[in-house]
Amino acid sequence: MSQVYDYIVIGGGSGGIASANRAAMHGAKVLLIEPNELGGTCVNVGCVPKKVMWQASDILETIKRDAIDYGIDATVANFDFKQLVKNREAYIERIHGSYQRGLDQNKVTLLKGYAQFVDNSHISVDNQIYEGKHILIATGGHASTLDVPGGEFAIDSNGFFALEELPESVLVIGGGYIAAELAGVLHGLGSKVTWAYRKERPLRTFDDMLSTQLIDIYQGMGIDTKAYHVPTKIEKTDIGYTTSFENGAHISAHTVLFAGGRNPNTKHLGLEHTSVALDQKGYIKVDKFQATTAPTIYSVGDVTGAVELTPVAIAAGRRLSERLFNGQTLMHLEYEFIPTVVFTHPTIATIGFSEKEAIAQYGQEAIKIYHSKFTPMYFALGEYRQPCEMKLVCLGKEEKIIGLHAIGRGVDEMLQGFAVAIKMGATKADFDNTVAIHPTGAEEFVTMR
Ligand code: FAD
Ligand code: NDP
Repeated sequence: MSQVYDYIVIGGGSGGIASANRAAMHGAKVLLIEPNELGGTCVNVGCVPKKVMWQASDILETIKRDAIDYGIDATVANFDFKQLVKNREAYIERIHGSYQRGLDQNKVTLLKGYAQFVDNSHISVDNQIYEGKHILIATGGHASTLDVPGGEFAIDSNGFFALEELPESVLVIGGGYIAAELAGVLHGLGSKVTWAYRKERPLRTFDDMLSTQLIDIYQGMGIDTKAYHVPTKIEKTDIGYTTSFENGAHISAHTVLFAGGRNPNTKHLGLEHTSVALDQKGYIKVDKFQATTAPTIYSVGDVTGAVELTPVAIAAGRRLSERLFNGQTLMHLEYEFIPTVVFTHPTIATIGFSEKEAIAQYGQEAIKIYHSKFTPMYFALGEYRQPCEMKLVCLGKEEKIIGLHAIGRGVDEMLQGFAVAIKMGATKADFDNTVAIHPTGAEEFVTMR
């Protein structure tokens, strides 16, 4: 006899936990299945440990580079990488505890193990069968590997978080979020960093202004950036590895880190026993209500190939539970105008259309661009003058803001409020009518001419 649940959630990461808790809050009998630590990618090997490492490298930068301009003659007597890792992992352990308490409070049953579908409404875990009136697949993804001879020598972001020592030198390969972030973090912590990407620029899906400025700033800091570098093989050497590229270049480093995107966790789920359809890349096909092609099976988060961000998985998961268990029959997540930050040094904040995308969609005449570049006051006292650059993309006569992009110190914390305004349909006139806060960097957004 199988045990019957209103809702079986497969995967205890960002989307799964959020959806399970919300369903249980509305009285559903919920089973959450997760083989590993609670929290999934974000908590264990993603956002959380990444932000800790980013903060550590930011503090080091402040002490080593900026403090002297304020008359503070500070040196770093000792940077204990092992202690940083130990404190980071202890923090993550505390998060596990708070997640478990949340599940207990909401009376969600947690089952440790790998879930496999038996059919559209039954799941097997360790040969025990569970029946779900509704079932959610929130199994996330994993890093793709570098498919060249010796590709296995490259570590991925999980490998970065497993490091016990700071590598003396690192070659970072890839052109996305993770490569951009970890190149900056490793440099800030003290590694000698070379960053190789295969096209003309990294972060190609964002407004060009952001990557142009980032590369300028990274080069100025001493990060060696290499465009048009397509890796062909990695060989082990006495001190580390030598990576060869299509253009004939060879780069040696103690460690090679590859961050070239992620793939969905759909294998070994027994999906062949269901009527759940996958797209060409193996992601689970869902409609705007997160419904798969199988009745009563749903999916949220990275495994659907939608915008791969924690708050997106959480928002989709919670809305789905509102729809299924709280009568909000039309509730769903809108995937437009999702704000996002890249934790580079300095940070990048972006929402909506890039300038190029806006022109392609609406035509040159319909788009007006406002742009500002300045030195934040933080850098005003010294010789090192890191710029901050901002752009507003406006549409039509009413100048509705359809894109907002920034790179510079503190822009990560500026974006959330502006994202609310943009989601509400703010125009340039609305920004102009808002009194500035002085002296801040954010005030530039409401004073652009
Ligand atoms: P996950 O959080 O990956 O959870 C999936 C869970 O399913 C896992 O715990 C897994 O063990 C479990 N699972 C898999 N198979 C099974 C099975 N058969 N049975 C049961 N359970 C199973 N996003 C941000 O918004 N901000 C950031 O700063 C950020 N930084 C990141 C940094 C890195 C290095 C990485 C890799 C990602 C980062 N992300 C960030 C992305 C974010 O982590 C993901 O978008 C988010 O975790 C996706 O949530 P999810 O619920 O879809 O999947
Ligand atoms: P991304 O999708 O951001 O970028 C991967 C890029 O790597 C590709 O677009 C491609 O760039 C390049 N690439 C792919 N294959 C190869 C190859 N064989 N050789 C060289 N370069 C290659 O993936 P990430 O792994 O960086 O991150 C995964 C996702 O996790 C992100 O998309 C994001 O959604 C999420 N994330 C979010 C963060 C945040 O919110 N701050 C931080 C980290 C991750 P190109 O085509 O230009 O060469």
